[in-house]
Amino acid sequence: MVDFPPGVHPYCVFSVGGCRRRIGVAAGGDLLDLSAVAETLESVDPAIVLADRLNPLLASGRAAWEALAEEIRWRAAAGFLERGRRSRHGLVSHLAWEVTDFVDFYSSRRHAETVGRLFRPDAAPLPANWLSLPMGYHARSATVVVDGTPIRRPRGQARSEDGSIRFGPSRKLDFEVEVGYVVGGSTGVGESIDVADVDDHLFGVVLVNDWSARDIQALEYVPLGPFLGKSFATSVSAWVMPMTALAGARVPAPSQTVEPAAYLRAAEPWTLDLSLEVAVRPSGEGERITLASVGTAAGVYWTPAQQLAHLTVNGAAVRPGDLFATGTVSGPGPDGGCLLELTSDGAAPLDLGNATRTYLEDGDEVIITGRATTEQGAIPLGPVSGSILPT
Ligand code: MN
Repeated sequence: MVDFPPGVHPYCVFSVGGCRRRIGVAAGGDLLDLSAVAETLESVDPAIVLADRLNPLLASGRAAWEALAEEIRWRAAAGFLERGRRSRHGLVSHLAWEVTDFVDFYSSRRHAETVGRLFRPDAAPLPANWLSLPMGYHARSATVVVDGTPIRRPRGQARSEDGSIRFGPSRKLDFEVEVGYVVGGSTGVGESIDVADVDDHLFGVVLVNDWSARDIQALEYVPLGPFLGKSFATSVSAWVMPMTALAGARVPAPSQTVEPAAYLRAAEPWTLDLSLEVAVRPSGEGERITLASVGTAAGVYWTPAQQLAHLTVNGAAVRPGDLFATGTVSGPGPDGGCLLELTSDGAAPLDLGNATRTYLEDGDEVIITGRATTEQGAIPLGPVSGSILPT
């Protein structure tokens, strides 16, 4: 169970014994039930913390998020929230907010280059447009699920070895290690979020596993991009870490090879210094085996501010509860954030001691964990886990 340092209070939505869902925050290894202390909070309307999901808080705007986070921090430190304290044992976690829209980017240069080499060996590894814009696609909000939810192996059409098209369970089920940003506030159709104003819309961070069926994806993705190979499931962590808690993890963004368009240029570009780790517990095995460790500071070329500015530059509206994710985070070393990279699309199986893997097998569990590095110490993120069920 994740133990959070003093003063760090990520949000979650939980229930006990089938009763109604409530909003809580972590306090060390325990939980503070905010609904039990709602009437004592002064910074926000009690209805916001009595809701069964975070969306009303997401809609309330940055000033309210910061005021509530600050009030929770000092009241928890002063022992004024003890009435809501409870053990986390026996609690059921739920998706903390209703995901209104979901965009997945493709912003790790290392990942994009490795995938380019695998799929297009005769072409330049990076698509020509990749350095001009944060590439992404509209993913499926209805199939975003919380940490621990089992994932059923999808079925679909894929190309067989002999070139014919078959229909059946995916034979190349993969994970993708990503960071997700939970959007608050809203914009109307025709409006854009300026790259300088993105902080007004970034509520918090979750870890994301963008489950991917590589064989279904490979058949369908030309020319319109990912569709059924991605839309069957995306897992997010139960904990939503507010951006206010991650202020100390901000670092200058890596310099960009090509100067981007004006709407993507921030005065002081920043990114978050997060370390992510992915482990697998192979079916029937007790032991968890670490597969890769990756970092966002060097591993993601496009910043969250550039991603949200790009997402809205055409006038696309956002709502409180939108989610956008980095895309698979890889490198800069040999570690890739998915099996496609780690096994070169199955050509180099991974030796896991008592098992080998190219892609995931039924019964395998994938666990993604992370931490933010700050001068005050490490802040844990995640976990986000899921086990594979047969089709
Ligand atoms: Mn992805």
